Amino acid sequence: MKLGIVGLPNVGKSTLFNAITQAGAECANYPFCTIEPNVGVVAVPDERLEKLAEMYNPEKVTPAVIEFYDIAGLVKGASKGEGLGNKFLSHIREVAAIVHVVRCFEDSNIVHVEGSIDPIRDIETINLELVFSDMEVLERRMDKTKKSARSGDKKAQDELQFMEKLYTHLESGKPARTLEMSDDEQEMLKQYFLLTSKPVLYACNISEDDLISGNVENQYVQKVKEYAKNEGSEVVVICAKLEEEISTLEGEEKMEFLASYGLEEPGLNKLIKASYKLLGLISFLTAGPKEVRAWTIKEGTKAPQAAGKIHSDMEKGFIRAEVVAYDDLIKCGSEIAAREKGLIRLEGKEYVMQDGDIVVFRFNV
Ligand code: GDP
Repeated sequence: MKLGIVGLPNVGKSTLFNAITQAGAECANYPFCTIEPNVGVVAVPDERLEKLAEMYNPEKVTPAVIEFYDIAGLVKGASKGEGLGNKFLSHIREVAAIVHVVRCFEDSNIVHVEGSIDPIRDIETINLELVFSDMEVLERRMDKTKKSARSGDKKAQDELQFMEKLYTHLESGKPARTLEMSDDEQEMLKQYFLLTSKPVLYACNISEDDLISGNVENQYVQKVKEYAKNEGSEVVVICAKLEEEISTLEGEEKMEFLASYGLEEPGLNKLIKASYKLLGLISFLTAGPKEVRAWTIKEGTKAPQAAGKIHSDMEKGFIRAEVVAYDDLIKCGSEIAAREKGLIRLEGKEYVMQDGDIVVFRFNV
């Protein structure tokens, strides 16, 4: 489950991507990780792991990770094959969600491809390329569906109606994700793998000055927030340049640097957490003297499938899960105290896992 970083040239994508890769997680622990120059793997910040580590003194702590894919080169005309257009559009097809970097900083030394700072114009330029590409994909699908509809296929006739509604929506320049849809229509949409049906997080890249002076809601950011609200997208404000510097530091030095800017944590943490959420992901936790670890699951995952993330045998032989909510465990101070208070629950195979559940799975081998 990768996120793709997109945006016009010179908005700060590479700077942000560098920050991500430098802050990056050790890939060796994560078998699914792809090691490619344009993929950055980063740990998902989770204060709960630190608290649990204090309680269990484990040999190691393993956070969840997510992958960011740097998709540079998206320019006006990409859907017509300009620049390296089509290649980049196909890369976006592979990602589950999009981080759209928007330039919200002024700097006369850094040329803007369109000659001025205008985040909404920039957003729409990129979004329109994606919309064009989706229209092409949908046209091809519609041709096929039309044939089936003509031969009397009722299902195809219904679907064609939806496709036409969707096409009109795209034609007016709007992304597929903003179309009001029934559940059935949502299901159909999923089958088309459209670029504009992917969830989006706008990353407003502001200047160091604005960050330091607390002007994080500058006029550009305000515009992006309003725009995002209308289409139901997320926004995170970040100063990519500062994040790049922060990511090269460690320990004390990092804390001091953050403090000197009046920050409690890197802005990147906010971005990563929001990205995790954007993907519809949550973490369940395991804790013991060997390892304290966060495991990534999709929201709505049931206990046996969650167990399967640890080992396929655990899913096959699943008996039950012993679960304690993170807050309950912390309040009690120890597993033993939580057990005495009856806060460790036994859950069966229909249990839907919750974010922050601390779990021991029981299974037959
Ligand atoms: P990309 O083309 O979108 O990948 O943009 P880059 O990351 O290469 O950034 C373009 C230029 O803008 C570089 O010179 C960066 O140093 C500069 N830049 C990126 N982020 C910031 C920022 O937050 N503040 C300032 N002042 N400059 C930035």
